[in-house]
Amino acid sequence: MYLVGAGPGDPGLLTLAGRDALARADMVVYDRLAHPSLLNHAPAQAERLFVGKKSAQHFVKQEDTNALMAARALAGKTVVRLKGGDPFVFGRGGEEAEFLRERGVPFVIVPGVTSAIAAPAYAGIPVTHRDAASSFAVITGHERGDDRESGTRAPGEAEQRRRWDRIAYAADTLVFLMGVEALGEIAAKLMENGRAPETPVGLIEWGTWPRQRVVTGTLANIVEAAREAGIRPPAVTVVGEVVRWRETLRWFDTGPLFGKRVLVTRAREQASALSDRLRRLGAEPIEFPTIRIEPPADNYVALDAALADLADYDWVVFTSANGVVRTFARLDVLGRDARAFGNAKVAAIGPATEMALRERGVRADFTPSEFVAEAVVAQFPEPVAGKRILIPRAAEAREVLPETWRAAGADVKVVPAYQTVLETEGAADIRERLAAGELDALTFTSSSTVKNFVEAVGKDVTVLPSVVLAAIGPVTAQTCRDLLREPDIVADAYTIDGLVDALAARWKTDKRPISGLEPP
Ligand code: SAH
Repeated sequence: MYLVGAGPGDPGLLTLAGRDALARADMVVYDRLAHPSLLNHAPAQAERLFVGKKSAQHFVKQEDTNALMAARALAGKTVVRLKGGDPFVFGRGGEEAEFLRERGVPFVIVPGVTSAIAAPAYAGIPVTHRDAASSFAVITGHERGDDRESGTRAPGEAEQRRRWDRIAYAADTLVFLMGVEALGEIAAKLMENGRAPETPVGLIEWGTWPRQRVVTGTLANIVEAAREAGIRPPAVTVVGEVVRWRETLRWFDTGPLFGKRVLVTRAREQASALSDRLRRLGAEPIEFPTIRIEPPADNYVALDAALADLADYDWVVFTSANGVVRTFARLDVLGRDARAFGNAKVAAIGPATEMALRERGVRADFTPSEFVAEAVVAQFPEPVAGKRILIPRAAEAREVLPETWRAAGADVKVVPAYQTVLETEGAADIRERLAAGELDALTFTSSSTVKNFVEAVGKDVTVLPSVVLAAIGPVTAQTCRDLLREPDIVADAYTIDGLVDALAARWKTDKRPISGLEPP
């Protein structure tokens, strides 16, 4: 049994130990403070149990969850309890571990990045600073802290007994978790106990998530500011001079992609590279895989036949990373490896294709500077007349490359290594979000993503003019033009990075000052 800190939200803030535990899980139990994409680290067949609390009725009782997890673990299953932030910082990890110990269930604690530090960090607030704070304290907004923020509970006796005189000076920087409901009381008590009314305060709602919001003010006016902004849990409250540093250190929520919802239409296996890049820049990728990659219709008969005399070719040309992956997978099935290429030269179109080859121990002899068939033909390092060329690729790819080479006298064999098929799951939801103006951009990384997108959501779909259409290159752009409308962005580099850069260039950086605090 693993108690794993999931970090504060940004899925990049999971530890390596946490990722390893997830990779071994038979069962994962998680709540709303853990980013859902962390579940992708768990095996597909692992059981997933959500114990969040959308509504009171569906709230799974803590005791029931504990008992279930203990029972599974005792039955020999690897159970991972993912907890927002760090499991031992107001996460009831201590109680859960005690419960496990009493029942003789062995456990491992994997600490996590706590929101108490990470949410301020993503707001540009250092919890310590040599010029302003040599200590920080993490304090619960509730006396008997739980993470429910029920709010309805009247302050009990325990609450009244809190030693606010001590809390007020517990450290230079005070970080309150679960403090939204009690913000008024916190501010009042700190002032009553000697903290100056002009002490800076920062509230960070959904810190490290694309929906992060930050409100700053002072002990005297923060309650008003929070009410105006409608700040709701989960939020971290930071009290102290360090809050001023946001004025100069703000970084996460100023980026051009911050908070933008960007549709990713690539196949599920390939979406993560694009999604990760978008997330790093603060955007919220919405994955809608319109494509599923499947074995070709002939179930590899043509590919296998070509691979049988691979070394007889002068060139093997890969046009996609998928082509590389499938080709090597077939070589493996046939009991062979990279040596099967013999003296055949290898061409890779695009950096992802080149990388896929490298990972398999093969360096490409040729990569064009642009990643379209026309550039390959123009830049090919030798005359193709009389050469035997093999192209393992998608069943439905363009004919430009083979036809041009054949016309130039080459003996070109094209074999399907995979086919892409339409995926429609989630289409209704995407239609609704488009109509409601909830998406800021649609990204297309190949012509088939455009075709499948239109087919999945329907030709009559509403794509508001404000939605940015981004195509990875000129061929995809043409399909976009034909089936949807003129794309707003065509990446210069024809790569995922190029696409993300172009999106970032499109949206301006937000430099608005957001508070009345004096910078340090
Ligand atoms: N173990 C968690 C805290 C659980 S208590 C940790 O180490 O972060 C739940 C409280 O944590 C929330 O009420 C809120 O105050 C804080 N919190 C958790 N995630 C947060 C986030 N992404 N942004 C702001 N506050 C967060």
